[in-house]
Order: sequence, then structure tokens, then C-alpha cells
Amino acid sequence: MFELKNIIKEYNNGEISFRALNNVSLKIDAGEFVAIMGPSGSGKSTLLHILGFLDKPDSGQYILDGQNTSHFTDTQYAQLRKDYIGFVFQQFHLLPRITSIQNIHLPLIYSGKKQLKRRAYELLEQVGLKGKETNNPNELSGGERQRVAIARSLVNDPLVIMADEPTGNLDSKSEKDILKILQDLNDQGKTIIVVTHEEDIGKQAKRIIRLKDGEIVSDEVQVKTKIAKKGHLSESKGKKPTGSTIQFMDYIKQSFQMIFANKVRSFLSMLGIVIGVCTVVAMLALGAGAKVSISSSLSRMGTNLLMVVPNRGQGTVPVKFTIKDVDALKGLPMIKRVAPQVSGGVTLIAGNKNLSSYIQGSTIESEQMRNRTPEYGRYFNQEEIQNREKVAVIGKTVATELFGDNDPLNQILKINKINFRIIGVLPALGGGTGLRDQDNVVYLPLSTAMFRVLGKQYYDQLDVEVKDIKQVSDAQTAVTQLITKMHNLTPEQKDSIRIMNMAELQEALMSTVKSLTFLLGFIASLSLLVGGIGIMNIMLVSVTERTREIGLRKAIGARKIDILMQFITEAVIMTFTGGMLGILLGVAIATILSKVAAWTIVITPSAIIISTSFSITIGLIFGIWPAKKASNLNPIEALRYE
Ligand code: ADP
Repeated sequence: MFELKNIIKEYNNGEISFRALNNVSLKIDAGEFVAIMGPSGSGKSTLLHILGFLDKPDSGQYILDGQNTSHFTDTQYAQLRKDYIGFVFQQFHLLPRITSIQNIHLPLIYSGKKQLKRRAYELLEQVGLKGKETNNPNELSGGERQRVAIARSLVNDPLVIMADEPTGNLDSKSEKDILKILQDLNDQGKTIIVVTHEEDIGKQAKRIIRLKDGEIVSDEVQVKTKIAKKGHLSESKGKKPTGSTIQFMDYIKQSFQMIFANKVRSFLSMLGIVIGVCTVVAMLALGAGAKVSISSSLSRMGTNLLMVVPNRGQGTVPVKFTIKDVDALKGLPMIKRVAPQVSGGVTLIAGNKNLSSYIQGSTIESEQMRNRTPEYGRYFNQEEIQNREKVAVIGKTVATELFGDNDPLNQILKINKINFRIIGVLPALGGGTGLRDQDNVVYLPLSTAMFRVLGKQYYDQLDVEVKDIKQVSDAQTAVTQLITKMHNLTPEQKDSIRIMNMAELQEALMSTVKSLTFLLGFIASLSLLVGGIGIMNIMLVSVTERTREIGLRKAIGARKIDILMQFITEAVIMTFTGGMLGILLGVAIATILSKVAAWTIVITPSAIIISTSFSITIGLIFGIWPAKKASNLNPIEALRYE
């Protein structure tokens, strides 16, 4: 069945090359029980690894069932291990964080026969461990662990059991038990190859091959093996090597097993992604909310409004708006109404409460032009403006902050220590942008605000309403010309006034919000990147820490692609889960902000889609390197890793 011809295996340690196997030729038939013996360092393990397709010889031929396997690829080697060989190691190599049944079941996943659950239970019983199904390896004695390992080696019904010092770590009672199991298996027709340095074990074998310095020094048959039924071999050939039957769901299941086995570590490495995604989602929600609230508050003002303000800056002269400007503007044929305006910050006091707020003084036209009709009470009238009356129309925030549930109408409000009578309360506008609360405002008659409160001689702003919305841009030109002429502005001083129409204002505000959102989004993405690097770090640590696990998985038949997929899937599941948690947290934070700070937030589906795909991509990108590193490990070096 197995035939080695002139096998040479050399190890290179820098300059020195060392020949561990020197021209070894041998034949092993089905049904044999072979002990490979010899002093330490004589090449026993190396020989077993080559026989078991864990390692490749440097030269010579390895013929399996008449087929030369020397030129086989790594994947084909994995297939041969999976289909023909069951390994038992001195250090057991059980996966520590899963149960004995899961350990026994593991090879079935790689051979695509995972539905054969019962087989794992039968084998556990066969090695005398019934009742220990759900124990993890650390809850088993050494002998019991080795019995689990033997059950695992049998689960794929291999042709050969290869055991490397299987009793080397066991007490003499356990040693006997294991030996008995191997003997029974041989009686049932399994081929057994054992590497050992213990003569006792050698005596139990039917044939002893002795090695020294990489060469076979003796090969004695103690008990003649009844040549197994011819069928044995051809039977095995009929057992078609299984293909790539491991499925995506298996990778996911395996990954979840590993993630849950390391709960704390997995959670900590997810945290970076959680925070990153959470920030991105919250930022985008706030940005979108700001846009909505800006456009809704601007649309209330009417789009045929022009706002004329003095401008400061290089090359400008101070422009002082007076009633002359207002009258002149009113004379333009395209203009319907003009409302001058002053504004400033004030402190409000009512009873024992105070509030820092903002007043605007204006004419009666501003009620319609700026959509300021009170919810109850009334706006001030022409007479009150003329007489500089101390009457005030207040915004909703002022009403609730200073008067609570009481009716503020006709109450006294102190503005900068002057007593005012409240004559109207505006409806809530809502939709703050986080910059200023639009409901924290008091409207006063223009003259009152100018002369009694703010002490201003000139207007801060002129609101100009154009008759026909189609004429907005013509009107803008006409207004500019008029003001320029009235204030004798030279062409170089034309920047001394600024005229904005609502569309422009909206654009300007939107672009500010956009760049702010972009900036915040960029910072949030940086934290995502940091989170991704954290995941990569953990995965790399995990590859190192799980090197022996990777070796074991390869020994029981995992291909390169299986290991690669497993590690990538693990990374993606971590980032994806982190992303989902981040989205939930981000939505929660945004919602809390909208409730507590009264900011408008809008959670867009695109924000959710962006952050989800972002987190998956990060998992892929940062998972690939560690996964490649893991999948490229040589099974033997990985198993020996300390
Ligand atoms: P045995 O199992 O008989 O103790 P091994 O087959 O493990 O011997 O090793 C045979 C020789 O090859 C030893 O001298 C060992 O030091 C050497 N050897 C084994 N593996 C390596 C390796 N990866 N690199 C270098 N030398 C090795």
C-alpha cells in the first residue's frame, strides 16, 4: 500500500544542512501494525510525517496504491491526509475551548460529512468515554484526552492510524489502555504505524523498523500479518477523495465558535469598530438633520426676500442704513415692501428666572414678510412703533423657560432691566441646528429696540420683498445700484454692502453644513481605521496563539483555502457585528441628542448602508493578511510551534 523509495529529507539551518532521512526505502501493507523505533533524533518523526503527507521529502519517491505522489500539490496532500490518514500525537493536540464531541467531529467538517454526528458519539463510546461528551479537554485526564484524539483520528474512517509517541505523556495505566485500543483497531483491520522509543510498545507491534542516524538499521517481523483481504485497498480507492465540500455556513459556524470561545478579547477588538461606526452614523444623522432644519426654516421666510446688510472687510467703508434708504427702496417699482431691522443679545428676567436671549426690532411689515404671526396674542402695531411702546412678542422657548405652564400674555418681562408687557407668543419653530435656538427670541417695535434697548442709530439689516419672484435677480441689481448711489460708494467699495437672496443664503449655509459634516465624517472614519487596525492586530496575535490549532486543522485535512476562509470569516464577523452594534449605538446617541438638545436628526438609509459595507470591507482588508499568514503555515512547523 505505502512504498517509499530512496527517500532523503534534509533540514537546513543556515549554513549547515542536516540529513534527517538518508535513502530510506520501505513498504507497508494494509493491516500491518508497525512500530518505528530508534534513539532520539534518529529520524522517526520525520519518517512518520512523510508517510502521513504532513511533509514532503527532498528526493525519492512515495508511491501510494501504485501512484507516485511526489509531485502532488499542497491541496492534494491535504486531501490525502483527510481521506487516508488519522493522526494521533504525543501532545494530543485537541482544540482547548471546544467539547470532546466537537473535537471528534472536527475532521468531518473538512471532509464534508458533518451530518455524521452519530459517528462522533459512537467513537467516543468505543474509546470508553461515554458520559464525557460535553467536557472540554482541560476537564479530562491525559489518558482520556488521548482517547478523544484517537476517536478523532478514526472519525473519517481512515486506512491508517499514525501515532507519534502516543503514550509519551501518559502514566502506565493509561499507556496500557491506549495500547489496547490500538491493538483492537488493528484486529479490526486498521493499519497502525506507531513511532515510539519504548521497547514495551514495540513488543506489541507485529513489525519493528529500527532507525539510526536517518537510516533503517533493522526491519523485523514479529508476528506475520495475515495479508488483509485484497479488497481493503481497492475498497479505499472506491472511497473517492472528497472534494471541497466544506461550505460557507461551516466557516461561519467555526468562526462563531472561536469568537465565543474568546468572548472578552473578541469584544475588546470589536470596540474600535463599534465606536467608529457609531460616530459615523451619529455624525451623518446630525448633518442630514441640520440640512433639513435649515431648509425648513428658510422656506418659512419666502424666497422673494432680499436681505441687505453692511459688510465689513478689506476695502469696505461703514455703511449706515437709515429711513432714507428704506424710503428710496420703497420707490423702486419692483419692490413690494421694505422692513428695516436691528438685533442684539440681551438678558431677560421674569419673576426670579432669567434667560440669555436675542431681540429683533422691526416694523409691522416684518410680521408677514418673516412669517411671524403669533400663536396667541398679537403682533405690535404702527402706533406702538411710533410711541416706542414697551411691548414684546416672545418666542416659544422664552415662554416655556420663563413662564413654564403659566400664560405669559400681559405678564411683565424685563429686557436689560426695562419692563416690557408681553402681547404675543409665537408658535414653536423647532428645528434648531445646534447653533442657535430659533425660538429663543423676542420681537420688539423697531424704535423701542433701537432707542430704549440697544441704543442704535442705524439699521442692521434691510429686508426687501420683491413683487414677483421672477424679478428677484433684476431687483437685486437695482437695489445694489440704488444703495451704491445713495452712499456714494466707489466701484472699489462695492463690497461694503452685501445682498443675499434666500436661495443664496440656503446655499451658503448648506455648504457650511456639508463641509462640517464632511470633516466630522472624516474624523469618524479615522476611528474606524484605527478600529480596523485593532482587529488586524488581534487577528495576528490570534494566528500566533493558534498556530498549533492551525497545524492540527491542516493535519486532519483542512486545505489552505479552508484556513484562509476561516480567519477572514472570523475577522469579517467581528467587524460586521461591531458595525451592527455601532449602528444601534449611533442611532441611540443621535436620538438622545435630538431629545435632550432638541437638534433635528435624520437617519438616512444610506448612512446605515455605508457604515455596514464599511465595516465588512474593513474586516476583509484587515483580515486578509493574518489569514494568509495562517494558511501558509506548514502543518508540521505549526504543530511543533511552542
Ligand atoms: P526523532 O523523532 O527520531 O527523535 P526527528 O525525526 O524528530 O527524530 O528528527 C530527526 C533529526 O532532524 C533531529 O536531529 C532533529 O534535530 C532534526 N530536525 C527535525 N526537524 C527539524 C527542523 N524543522 N529543522 C531542523 N532540524 C530538524
